[in-house]
Amino acid sequence: MLVTGGAGYIGAHTAKALAEQGYRPVVFDSLRSGFLPAVRWGDFVHGDIRDGRALREAIAAHGIREAIHFASLIEVGRSVERPDLFWDVNVGGTACLLDALRDCGVNRLVFSSSAAVYGQPEGLAAADLLSETLPTVPTSPYGDTKLACERMIAAYCRAFGLSAVALRYFNAAGADPSGLIGEAHDPETHLIPLAIAAALGTGKPLTVFGQDFPTPDGSCLRDYIHVTDLAAAHVAALDVELPAGAFEAVNVGTGRGWSVLEAIEAVERALCRPVPRTLGARRAGDPPGLVADPSRARTLLGWSPVRSSLDQIVQDAARWHADQRYGRSVKVNLEGNKETISSLRG
Ligand code: UDP
Repeated sequence: MLVTGGAGYIGAHTAKALAEQGYRPVVFDSLRSGFLPAVRWGDFVHGDIRDGRALREAIAAHGIREAIHFASLIEVGRSVERPDLFWDVNVGGTACLLDALRDCGVNRLVFSSSAAVYGQPEGLAAADLLSETLPTVPTSPYGDTKLACERMIAAYCRAFGLSAVALRYFNAAGADPSGLIGEAHDPETHLIPLAIAAALGTGKPLTVFGQDFPTPDGSCLRDYIHVTDLAAAHVAALDVELPAGAFEAVNVGTGRGWSVLEAIEAVERALCRPVPRTLGARRAGDPPGLVADPSRARTLLGWSPVRSSLDQIVQDAARWHADQRYGRSVKVNLEGNKETISSLRG
């Protein structure tokens, strides 16, 4: 099983879930934003998804039969400043991967997509559930690239007999209960880790981005999904029977929205400490609500979340952040240095 971006947050949790289900993950990662200590399950190949030769070599050397494609740039704000990078890595990289998969006879793909493909659907209230049948009108270059990838994958499915599932993630959060892996972004921009860092005193006071949204308490509603549930959705997407040429886009969320203030309260409950905070302006591009209609995941994949109560998510995240996570201090950049890579693994 090829896992591009498997040294990243969701990729590492999925590699663990795959290994537990008897798959042999082979992580292919550039380590530009991933963490080598997160690669604990299966083999590791250091490479860039825009390098077709490296992909073909890895696929041949490891006898790859299926692939999960996580590797991408993810920060919405940065995508506004540097759309060139996002189109190159996310869209160019996916095109390169698709060609390599086709040429090597790999015909099953699960793709890491995003609720960002929906943008801000007109006429819906913040808490309304978003279903896969809604029009897709992204509001950021990041969302544009995820939608472009979905369309490219669908076209490759029709033309070349690939079958694929695009999982549209809502808000991934939490950490594996083992404490071995968890969320570590650099820079961190996500609410729950920032609120935890603020409460622990390891980060700045949290800025609440707007309290004038059309929601019950004025802060944005988001659908937080535990990363281990998200990982399980990938395994379910691999296991579902699909005919050659089929492409399916599926939401991965809980169907329940939580406000920013409710998430902060959950962090305060978990840590028994206040979250120091200030009220700030709205963040550009933040829709008031993003809540999944999760029914298609249930019917198509037979998947539903089991660990995604907000309190469970926050408790697992808080445990990970309170321990010394592998984080920035041990982030490594090992361009081309394979000896060091193997000696540092695990
Ligand atoms: N948020 C916030 N302060 C922060 C980071 C996030 O108020 O420092 C809010 C953000 O406006 C959004 C929610 O928390 O409504 C979740 O944001 P996050 O960046 O975690 O995920 P996103 O929904 O953007 O994918």
